[in-house]
Amino acid sequence: MRYFELADPRDPDSRQWSGTYRATRKWCLPGVDCPRCTPWGGMLAYASVDLSNLTESDVLTSGWPQPREEYARRAALVRPFVPPELPLEPGCSFGPLVGTAMGKFGPITARPSWEVLVREDTLTALQDAGLKGIIPVRADLRNRRTKELPQYELEARPLVKLHPACIQDRVATCEYCGRHGFSLPPERWLLGESIPKDLDLFGVEETTRIVVSERFVDTVNRLGPSDVVYREITVE
Ligand SMILES: [Zn+2]
Repeated sequence: MRYFELADPRDPDSRQWSGTYRATRKWCLPGVDCPRCTPWGGMLAYASVDLSNLTESDVLTSGWPQPREEYARRAALVRPFVPPELPLEPGCSFGPLVGTAMGKFGPITARPSWEVLVREDTLTALQDAGLKGIIPVRADLRNRRTKELPQYELEARPLVKLHPACIQDRVATCEYCGRHGFSLPPERWLLGESIPKDLDLFGVEETTRIVVSERFVDTVNRLGPSDVVYREITVE
């Protein structure tokens, strides 16, 4: 199986579709105000996690950095609502995208490249093709073009790792707040043993990258051109 990272085309003149959106999620964990690092928060997001039944969910609407004890208290509230294999981190956000959209959308949109939206007809095609790991969450985007099809965000769970040999500058985990990570290597490849069998869409741990399979690309391309660049990523 071949795999591809999603990217937004750099050249705005090469775009075929006018669709844009502005949206946020309803809930989030705060950043953490670490005396050893700086205040920080990551970019993880789980659109499918619904916290509306959490009675204390009103403390989960601000990402403003908090001391680590308060971050830990709020993370413990959220944990039962998140599948146990998925990591939580400061700044993590939850729930569908809520906002406004303008213009016409192609079969798939990845703008910014860490959020992937598909049209309703694209979602049907992906489901009919039997692709695995497709977790659609309807985005709540008000669009004045009433004929626009609904958009579904595909949740990209960070289940796969980059190969350790391509990571040059991993920083030691902060003992106080748990911060860790590395800068995204320009030359990168996936750790083959970390890829769950037959998964057609996933996120890459400790990065904002979203990767799809060749089957995914073929299925979406049958619906016509999209403003998404597929960059092949090898596996070792
Ligand atoms: Zn720290």
